[in-house]
Amino acid sequence: MMERIELLRDHDRDLRFNGHWVASASSRKTNDQPRWLELNAYVTAEGKYVAEGIGRTVVDGEVDRHWAYVYDTAEDFVDAQFRDAMRCANCGRDLYGKYCAVCKKNTVREPTGERYLTRVSRELLEQMADVDDAVDKSLVVDVE
Ligand SMILES: [Zn+2]
Repeated sequence: MMERIELLRDHDRDLRFNGHWVASASSRKTNDQPRWLELNAYVTAEGKYVAEGIGRTVVDGEVDRHWAYVYDTAEDFVDAQFRDAMRCANCGRDLYGKYCAVCKKNTVREPTGERYLTRVSRELLEQMADVDDAVDKSLVVDVE
């Protein structure tokens, strides 16, 4: 069912569209977790895909962060969920943050050339694929 949806964005003007919610995923595992990530996916009345992210926090002095992006196709949406894998420019170790455990400091990062999905992004895409054939097809590359 189509409804008027309005999404907050810290980095830009808010988004407003007619559409419907498709899927949600969260990195929250326990109720005492101080910070977690929530992802929501929507499809607009015109068939565009919208990804919404909310960085939740219950830490004193911190505020939730909001972002949202619009994609013309399911394939663009799926593609945008992948992140560039990074390694330490100094020692080559795979990095998931700025800190390198080998160099024992925050380090310069460089892309390894590979991409990956976070657990929460994968969960979101799998939920979408269950109800949307275009997303399901976009998760696979057909080799001929
Ligand atoms: Zn290093």
